[in-house]
Amino acid sequence: MEKKREIYFRSILCQKLQRIQLSIRKKLLEMTTSDPQRLPDLLDHSAMEVNLGIESLIHDRHVLLMRDIEEALAKIDQGVYGICEECGCFINEKRLLICPTSSLCVKCQEREEQKVKLYRPTSACTG
Ligand SMILES: [Zn+2]
Repeated sequence: MEKKREIYFRSILCQKLQRIQLSIRKKLLEMTTSDPQRLPDLLDHSAMEVNLGIESLIHDRHVLLMRDIEEALAKIDQGVYGICEECGCFINEKRLLICPTSSLCVKCQEREEQKVKLYRPTSACTG
């Protein structure tokens, strides 16, 4: 990939990373400043627990996203950004613009999705 394009994608990825870090910091601040002891009744308390569960899910997703972005930034450093991890061909730039953390080309991504569909277990029970 051209240096100019690398710089462009690096700035997109850095902005994304900053936005996620900011929203995590904001959420953490909200969580630590709200005092559950002060809640008036049990109903509110359980509502808050549900809320915390959802927030931790969002947090997990943010952490995963951050990891993807950091991996993409590392690839730019190594000069391999935009190269498919499976087949080694160049990932379409339009695809990278839509999803700058893509590590697979469209063909390989579709193949991966097929695999997930085929091998997804129907039940969590392994017997
Ligand atoms: Zn590929």
